[in-house]
Amino acid sequence: MSADTGDAQAASGGPIVEITGLHKAFGMLEVLKGIDMRVERGEVVCIIGPSGSGKSTLLRCVNVLEEPNAGSVVVNGYELTDPDVDIDRARRSIGMVFQGFNLFGHLSVLDNLTVAQRKVLKRDATEAERIARENLDKVGLAEKAGSMPEQLSGGQQQRVAIARALSMQPAVMLFDEPTSALDPELVGDVLGVMRQLADEGMTMLVVTHEMQFAREVADKVLFMDGGVIVESGPPSKVIADPAEERTKTFLSRVL
Ligand code: ADP
Ligand code: MG
Repeated sequence: MSADTGDAQAASGGPIVEITGLHKAFGMLEVLKGIDMRVERGEVVCIIGPSGSGKSTLLRCVNVLEEPNAGSVVVNGYELTDPDVDIDRARRSIGMVFQGFNLFGHLSVLDNLTVAQRKVLKRDATEAERIARENLDKVGLAEKAGSMPEQLSGGQQQRVAIARALSMQPAVMLFDEPTSALDPELVGDVLGVMRQLADEGMTMLVVTHEMQFAREVADKVLFMDGGVIVESGPPSKVIADPAEERTKTFLSRVL
């Protein structure tokens, strides 16, 4: 039996995420004012920028949690803004890890990793468990399969959340400040797992305040402010040698 990875359209090549002219407003508040960006297969793109600049809203438009007012968002070949798109299939291309850990508190770690595989991808229990254990091993938590989320540290819970997303075998992983809610001593383990994923060639779009991570891991950094991408390029440019005044001001506050 071949498992459905939701990856069917990716074979066509081209970028995994392509956003063109994206606008999003909440009532009178214009939050995204024309975003153009792409993430190529295997690329790690980090989004940095001040609080309120629209970073989470941008990720939420990619993950179909928000509906754009204008523009197009294409993920893994699925045009999310096309009314005829199969949105459930499109969603399977996307793994998301949020700031909060969002595990199902009443399910064991293993069940957290198998439930969507079984319900959404219709994998049988044995196959789902095999894939779950493989991914728990990858994030260094093989021995925690039988634990309940509350028995784990925040950093371990976040690694479980990453393993859960990976178990769906998405074409792209989205991270929204995955380490912001963690005690400082736990941040390194989570960033380590993300770094390993990047090394393995996972396509990743990461909102982060971890400049060291962005500098070392990102292929491309986007600096967002006020609902636009102010500056983008390799970290050696955007973080180490920014051209724009707004980028310099932001970096002087966070570095
Ligand atoms: P960031 O992640 O960069 O901090 P957000 O995308 O969360 O920024 O928010 C950008 C702006 O949009 C903020 O002013 C925020 O208050 C507003 N906003 C976000 N979500 C909503 C919503 N569902 N309804 C109204 N305003 C929102
Ligand atoms: Mg945010």
